[in-house]
Amino acid sequence: ITPDLLRSSAVAACRRSVGSSLNAFVSLAEPQHQPPVANRGQGSLYNFCTAGCDTPGLAGSATCGSPTLAENFLPSYTATSIIRLLDEGAWLLGKTNLDPFGMGSGCSDGLHGPVRNPWRSSPCSSSVAPDSATNFYIAGGSSGGSAAAVASGLAVGALASDTGGSSRIPAAFCGIVGLKPTYGRVSRHGLVPLVNALDCVSIMANTVTDACLLLNAMQGPDENDSTCCPERPEPVGWSDELAAGLKIGVPAEFSTPGMSASVLDTWSSAVTHLESDLGLTCLPVSLPHTPLSIKAYSVLCCAEVASNMARYDGIEFGLRVRDSENSVESLYTANRLAGFNSVIRSRVLAGNYFLLRRNYKAYYEQARKVWRLIKEDFDRVFQSVDLLVCPAAITAAPTYRDFVQADNRYRTSTMDLCTQSVNLAGLPSIVLPTGLEEGTGLPLAVQVIGPAMAEARVAALAASLE
Ligand code: GLN
Repeated sequence: ITPDLLRSSAVAACRRSVGSSLNAFVSLAEPQHQPPVANRGQGSLYNFCTAGCDTPGLAGSATCGSPTLAENFLPSYTATSIIRLLDEGAWLLGKTNLDPFGMGSGCSDGLHGPVRNPWRSSPCSSSVAPDSATNFYIAGGSSGGSAAAVASGLAVGALASDTGGSSRIPAAFCGIVGLKPTYGRVSRHGLVPLVNALDCVSIMANTVTDACLLLNAMQGPDENDSTCCPERPEPVGWSDELAAGLKIGVPAEFSTPGMSASVLDTWSSAVTHLESDLGLTCLPVSLPHTPLSIKAYSVLCCAEVASNMARYDGIEFGLRVRDSENSVESLYTANRLAGFNSVIRSRVLAGNYFLLRRNYKAYYEQARKVWRLIKEDFDRVFQSVDLLVCPAAITAAPTYRDFVQADNRYRTSTMDLCTQSVNLAGLPSIVLPTGLEEGTGLPLAVQVIGPAMAEARVAALAASLE
């Protein structure tokens, strides 16, 4: 079997999947998005800026799941992470579905429609009409298309943008591995920003080894991203010895009201396995400011969204609504009403409110203080333990119907409870599947968190839990 043959069968599978019930792919890559012949290797899949395609809405464009970019935006350059993967011979299969600009936790709100969880993509309740458009389990968000593409076997790996949990929550819901690297380990150049200080190019794959292969290809300094690490990190690799003798912290604050019994069970089974089978020391630790992370994130995220979304005014970037040019104000209003959904509009309004001179101290400054306290919690804990083991999401994947009934702020504040503090602290984390929930048969997962740049240690422990 030649690499070309492998690729054409993968492309054929993806072609069949576009518009299928999973709704994982938005568009497929063209020949000009493939690596040079000398580098051609295995199949893969990515969803960032890629230059060189002249049809909006197809593989070369970056729609960000929003009408504002779907119609007339074509990136003029390709993301560093993707260039590096292509240089290593990866095949680009296509672009995957997401919530608009990465805002969401369900992959339910985007231009391209909701993604179905491949584990239970058929109707989830026999008491509801089988053709009901809301009768399925979600893949999780915001990068649900990437997770569904990997979990269904269409791609061996996929990229995701993780600002508050967007790679790890879909990985947990879809039963695959999600790796969020240390902030700055992988260049953000070409990743459309949500919260510049928190965004991480993250990886989804079937195994910890595959995820680390992709990380090794992408990591390292980039002159186009000043927040990227100045030195090329050692490639992530490990042997069993790296996990031997580790001290593992079990953070009390990650057990929260609303967490399902099955999530608590899988977490405690993972801890028991580490203690009894691997002989590691596991001890309770406390990260007291974790419950405040959602509030701090909400303020910081809205403030950056208000600034990042300002460029989509319909003049420089974004959707231009015809006959809206009576005044600058009516032009902006019409373009943003048509281009932004209510989630984006409410975050822009809230962000501008938090940043008003009279409110800045009460909201933005407070949030920055909490951000610092959260970082300090992790620093302190990592003086006494090597790694943390905790849940990744508070439940297994909910049904689409239940998920969309809650308002977006509530969804984000419950779904991202176990992930957002890790972004605020800029730390590496791997989510991996640990079993299936009794009754629903949906995947359950745990999360391993480590100190900055300790990806090899995190991967070693995650691999021992696989
Ligand atoms: N759910 C969070 C939000 O909506 C996180 C999103 C992300 O990680 N991209 O902001």
